[in-house]
Amino acid sequence: MSIQAPEYVRSIAPYQAGKPISELAREYGLQPERIVKLASNENPLGIPASARDAMVAAIGDLGRYPDSNGFELKAALSQRYAVPPEWITLGNGSNDILELAAHALLQPGVSAVYSQYSFAVYALATQETGARAIVVPARSLGHDLDAMRAAIAADTRLVFIANPNNPTGTFLRADAIAAFLAQVPRDVVVVLDEAYNEYLDPSLRFDSTLWLREHSNLVISRTFSKAYGLAGLRAGFGLAQAELTDLMNRVRQPFNVSTVAQAAAIAALDDADFLQRSYELNRRGLARLQSAFAQMGFEYVPSHGNFVLVRVGDADAVFEGLLRAGIIVRPVANYGLPQWLRVTVGLPEENEAFLEAFARVTGR
Ligand SMILES: *Cc1c(COP(=O)(O)O)cnc(C)c1O
Repeated sequence: MSIQAPEYVRSIAPYQAGKPISELAREYGLQPERIVKLASNENPLGIPASARDAMVAAIGDLGRYPDSNGFELKAALSQRYAVPPEWITLGNGSNDILELAAHALLQPGVSAVYSQYSFAVYALATQETGARAIVVPARSLGHDLDAMRAAIAADTRLVFIANPNNPTGTFLRADAIAAFLAQVPRDVVVVLDEAYNEYLDPSLRFDSTLWLREHSNLVISRTFSKAYGLAGLRAGFGLAQAELTDLMNRVRQPFNVSTVAQAAAIAALDDADFLQRSYELNRRGLARLQSAFAQMGFEYVPSHGNFVLVRVGDADAVFEGLLRAGIIVRPVANYGLPQWLRVTVGLPEENEAFLEAFARVTGR
């Protein structure tokens, strides 16, 4: 190769996205309308009607650049989460927030800590800065916070925690995270990634934003991609005290969230009805998938997200068999889980189509 690139860039394994419906349709000669995609933890309800209206209304403004500071969206988030606008960073999806934290804080010679089997973007965001990754072995497929605390080195600048975690669906209780935050050195930043927060059972929910006041080293990231149904739009946000927010915004592209995305996010944030429907649909679908897996004798990880990790053995073969039936799920061998598949909760009829094909392909 003649192009000079850092070795830490050359060694990056690219992110593996869920297979797009159009690609499967082309490859297998299937009709796109008949394909069921349960591969990317997308909201099966699609976009909220409120967001659609807001997007259509915003189109006329697209000749101009977006509001770089996202004044109105920040005002709405500020009200919702009772934090000042100076504590809010807008992201092109919450993946952007994870990268902003990494780019603001990491460089060659320092390290970031995250858990085995945690979200793939933590590894990517760390690697692309040239920082060293400290990957802490999981406990029961979830984060081992004691081990993560112990793994923090003198050069550690960042710790990533996903709660609930993707792809495992595991969940950490509030007291465990509070105890962890109390022990982390104050100059080590903790990114608490709560992409699936809105799917939590009310009995498990807690207000993590209260910790922001005590911890100047905490970033909470949230997204409009999951329960709000706007994965294709790319909108997320980070909450942190002003100093950390200022640092992340120094490495942010000025127009990282489009005009249409800002308008849609404002509308979705206000759409309690859509959020409730997303939650209810997911709760029922998750129960259905999990009880079916139990009945068929498959091990699965009880999930707190909108997906389930199920142990199928020869995951490649099952994945292939499902593809042939027009159903896309997610292999997770890239996470070091070659025997497992991750299945996103779909509409009731999608869940049934999946289960029918799954029973056939696995012979249960
Ligand atoms: C889906 C997901 C995100 C959010 O991605 P967006 O960039 O907001 O679409 C963040 N963290 C985890 C753990 C996820 O699974």
